[in-house]
Parts: sequence; structure tokens; C-alpha cells
Amino acid sequence: MSAYDYDLFVIGAGSGGVRASRMAAGKGKTVAVAEERYLGGTCVNVGCVPKKLMVYASHFAEDFHDAAGFGWQVGECTHDWPTLIANKDKEIARLNGIYQNLLESAGVEIINGRARLVDAHTVEVAGKQYTAEKILLTVGCTPILPAVPGIEHCINSDQVFYLPEKPERVVIVGAGYIAVEFAGIFNGLGCETHIVYRGDRLLRNFDRAIGAFVSAEMEKKGIHIHYLAEIESIERDSKGTLACALNDGKVLHADQVMYATGRRALTEDLGLAEVGVASRENQSIIVNDDFQTNIPSIYALGDVIGTPELTPVALAQAMVFVDHQYGEKQRSMSYDAIPTAVFCQPNIGSVGLSEEQVHSQGIVADVYTSEFRHLKHTLSGNSERVLMKMLVRQDNQQLLGVHMVGPDAGEIIQGFAVAVKAGLTKQQVDETIGIHPTAAEELVTLREIKYRVNNPG
Ligand code: NDP
Repeated sequence: MSAYDYDLFVIGAGSGGVRASRMAAGKGKTVAVAEERYLGGTCVNVGCVPKKLMVYASHFAEDFHDAAGFGWQVGECTHDWPTLIANKDKEIARLNGIYQNLLESAGVEIINGRARLVDAHTVEVAGKQYTAEKILLTVGCTPILPAVPGIEHCINSDQVFYLPEKPERVVIVGAGYIAVEFAGIFNGLGCETHIVYRGDRLLRNFDRAIGAFVSAEMEKKGIHIHYLAEIESIERDSKGTLACALNDGKVLHADQVMYATGRRALTEDLGLAEVGVASRENQSIIVNDDFQTNIPSIYALGDVIGTPELTPVALAQAMVFVDHQYGEKQRSMSYDAIPTAVFCQPNIGSVGLSEEQVHSQGIVADVYTSEFRHLKHTLSGNSERVLMKMLVRQDNQQLLGVHMVGPDAGEIIQGFAVAVKAGLTKQQVDETIGIHPTAAEELVTLREIKYRVNNPG
């Protein structure tokens, strides 16, 4: 008989927490998971899933317009925001139920409420204490809003999913994933959309050419981008309109102002300091390669440990954690060449090194690019263009990075991520027969080196 109530107590039923709980239970362990809000965490409730549904919703306007070139006569279209939100909520509730079933059928006990560490083996939820041999912290992250006068009038990237009505005019602050994705959503749904960004280029962690190309495409679609701009204050007038005063003297009027300015670890009131769990200044939890904190019985994974805040990363970490604790110790976690997609419009798909990373690492690399009009738009008349970019190590011809802006970029780059991860060469890509007619075939027919990075000559 174990001296503890459970073998594993998981705090947080997001992507990482649910996966770790289910897998550990599958190995015959007694597992409980505590969750204070919703099963599925950010991804299912206020992230990837509802966001992608809203991206689909917003793209129809362009599709209706494009249809005319193919002979369709589409009458005047209107969009009903409450229908979208209600249908989205229904789908999320269905997914919450699926998560509950998955956990229960795996034998995991779900404990509702906010959990707090009491000591190295004890957790308290709603006044009741539970002991466990191991505790896993998968509490995720939460949006951060800067201290700007009037910030209380603004929404964050969780609240945006529950707006009762569609704003006619929206200001979005930031230029990361969430900002550009929601700019596309609101613009597609017919809102006057402004991005206010303190820097001089969107998505600055992506390859510069990709960021610049997508910015131009977004502006073509009608999104207003204000660079080197900061909001100094936000005021609400008696009719509810928000006035955002920018540092350059401009004033933007909007019905909603949304901050998408990053996220921080959700570790407040978790009892980390009391139990002595080490964390960084930004509150993320410090772990070793086994996801173990400085307290040997306490582990953490997912967004809360400061690794890339992506659902598939948390899922992979959970599988490694369970394998190392309760399995064959066959799995390991690699953070190289993590593919990613940004569901702005058009989409971005990206894997491997950007040109800036190649440059700063001093790698001599050949750059191949292709820019073209999608076949569909030869009839639709839509001026949207596609960009593909491939970086190839000059000495051994290995693929270093593949980046794309265009429809279905995420779907296309997922396959190329295998090639980059496997260390395939440009010749192997060239030997692959294309699928015709697709946009993706361009990536296996890139022939001409556009230029060389870090060219020693
Ligand atoms: P990001 O870190 O991607 O972007 C934050 C943006 O806010 C940056 O442009 C940053 O500017 C700006 N910013 C930060 N602080 C301030 C401030 N005080 N005032 C003004 N601007 C500021 O964060 P997001 O919130 O967009 O997304 C969080 C994470 O969630 C992402 O990093 C990603 O890992 C994940 N995510 C993934 C998605 C996907 O896979 N498709 C979709 C959505 C989110 P600067 O660049 O100058 O620092």
C-alpha cells in the first residue's frame, strides 16, 4: 500500500495535464487532476480550437467575393456574430465533455477547484488535502496587459472569445501570433481593424521576409497597421466608444481594444514560494530535462516552464514525462525544428532556422524563394500572393528552414517539417516528384539560388 493518496497529482487539466494524467493512469498509476476552470485548458477553450473556428468564419467573406470569378452570383451577405459564438461555445462544450470522458475512462479522478501546494507531497483543493508521491504542475499561462491608463476598458485574448456583439471598429495591440490572427478574424468579419505595434515589423521572431510579406498582404486586405506606435491612454466616452491616444498624437476610436501582448506563467497562489519551488523572474518554473523542479517530488511541463507555448510541445513533453517516470525511458524531448503556423490571413507556416538565425550563427546558406499567384486567384481576381522560402546549408546541402505565406501554409509545412527534422538535403527534395497542380509542388521545384547568406566570397 502506498503511503500516499495518489501516485501522481496533476494541477491543471490543459493539453499537457490531461495527456500526462491519461497516460500515467494507462500505466496503472493512481492519478488525480485538479482543474479550477475548464477541461482542455487554453487550447480548447480560449486558444487554438475556437480561434481556428473563428478564422474559418472570417474567411467566408473573401470566399464569397472570390466565387464571382467562377460564375457564382452571391447575393448580399450578412454575418451574425451571436450565431458564431453560440455554435463555437456548443462545440467547445462538446470537447470539454470528450476530455472528461477521456479522463474518467482512463481512471483519472477529476477534482474541481483551485489547487495549491502545501508541501512536497501535499496539495489542497477547496479546503481538502490530498497527498501524492509525485506532483505535476501544468497550470499554463495567462495574458499579460501593460499598465496603461484606461487599461480596464480593454479586453485580453481570453475575453475576446466571449464578446456578446461584434465590434464595428477594433484596435489590437501587439504583433505576435494572437494579434495578427485576430486582426485577420475581425477584418474578415467586416470590422475596421487596426494593429498598434511598438516595433517596426510584425512577427519579429519569424523570418523577416515572411513577416514583411504577410504584413503587406494584411494591409492589402484592409487592415491598418500602425508601426512604432504605443497607446498612451484609453478613455471611454458616454456612448461607450474608446479613444486610444497614440504616442504620435493620433487618436484611434474603437468599440473594443484588445491587448495581445504576451502571456505569463499562471503560478500566483500556487504555493511555489512556500514550498520552495524555484521559478524565474517572469514566474515560469525552472525544471531539468526530466521536467523535475528543484523539489524532487514536484515536476512541471507545458507553457508554465518557459518552453515554446504550443500545444504539441506540451503534449510531447507529457509523453516524455510519463515515459521517464512510469515507462521504458525511450522518449526524449527535442526543441529543434519545431514547426509552427500562424493563422493570420494568408496563413504562415514555418519550420527551422530563419535567415536572421542562419546569419547570426555564421552558417553559409543558399536561399531559394518563389513568389506567385495561387491558381485559384487566376479566376477569382483576388490579388493575394504566395511566398515560399527555403534555406539550405551550402556545404552539405541540408535543409535548414522552410517558410511559407499562403493558403494552407500550416498544412503544407507540416510535411516539410519531417524533411527538416530528418536532415534531408536539397537534392532529396529535388528528387521528390511534385503533386500537380498544387502550391506545395513549388517547394520541390525550387531551382535557382536567389542569394547566399554569409557568403565567404
Ligand atoms: P507573442 O509573444 O507572440 O507576442 C507579443 C506581442 O506583444 C509582441 O509583438 C510584443 O512586442 C508585444 N508586446 C509585449 N509587451 C508589450 C507592451 N508592454 N506594449 C506593447 N506591446 C507589447 O504573444 P501572444 O500574446 O501573441 O501569444 C502568446 C503565445 O501563444 C505565442 O508566443 C505562441 O507561442 C502562442 N500562440 C500560438 C499560436 C499558434 O500556434 N498559431 C496562436 C496564438 C498563440 P515585441 O515583439 O516588441 O516584444
